[in-house]
Amino acid sequence: MIEFNNVSKVYASNGVHALDNVSLKIDKGEMVFIVGASGAGKSTFLKLIMREEKPTSGSIIVNNMHLEKMRRGKVPYLRRTMGIVFQDFRLISKMTVYENVAFAMRCVGKKNDAIKKRVPYILELVGLADKAQDHPSELSGGEQQRVSLARALVNNPEMIIADEPTGNIDPEMSYEIIELLSEINKRGTTVLIVTHEHELVKSFGKRVITIDDGRVVSDTADDRFVVI
Ligand code: ADP
Ligand code: ADP
Repeated sequence: MIEFNNVSKVYASNGVHALDNVSLKIDKGEMVFIVGASGAGKSTFLKLIMREEKPTSGSIIVNNMHLEKMRRGKVPYLRRTMGIVFQDFRLISKMTVYENVAFAMRCVGKKNDAIKKRVPYILELVGLADKAQDHPSELSGGEQQRVSLARALVNNPEMIIADEPTGNIDPEMSYEIIELLSEINKRGTTVLIVTHEHELVKSFGKRVITIDDGRVVSDTADDRFVVI
């Protein structure tokens, strides 16, 4: 669950008002698209949720944690409740698909027995069971993004945050990635997707939050959202 109450963010270095008095709530189990032009404030919104940035004013609650007063030492606990998918995949090129996903479990101290059960299950879920021993460079962009999704999912997070997940892959594959995120959402995980791809967004009929110049200008569950 995500709750923003009158959140503003001004970057001290240049005085830019990246977010201006944003209040919204995203419930557990929702699937939400965040859209808006370049510079609108979408990345800032995600950075505040991940506690990469702190708000200048207002309060933020994510998965029952109050972020504006959270100590640095607690941030890893917050991050463990979220799986993050990046536009540029960020896979480890020297590792196989299997190892990339297993590594995420090793990082949080999971035992080998658990890893050996969980990784094949997750690779099956994202349709990559037959690619387990391949390296990222041997895969298509869409497949690499599915590895990245497997890695985000493997520790069973409460929410998946995807920042332009289809930005580096071709259109047919893009649909599959969002479809997969939708399947994951149906299993109960909250899904938040930042994207530029309006047509793709429309075809899913989910909640769409439009940000323009640091403000939420539209928040709707149908396809009549404002296109900027
Ligand atoms: P979007 O993700 O929608 O493109 P951003 O959140 O990245 O938008 O940016 C919103 C505004 O904040 C822009 O004017 C951008 O230049 C500014 N901004 C973003 N990050 C920083 C930063 N670290 N320092 C200063 N200004 C920033
Ligand atoms: P260790 O126990 O030393 O961590 P494993 O026996 O789990 O190593 O795995 C050795 C290698 O075999 C891994 O690096 C991985 O590439 C591969 N591997 C293990 N289990 C599977 C599996 N179920 N599916 C695909 N590859 C696997």
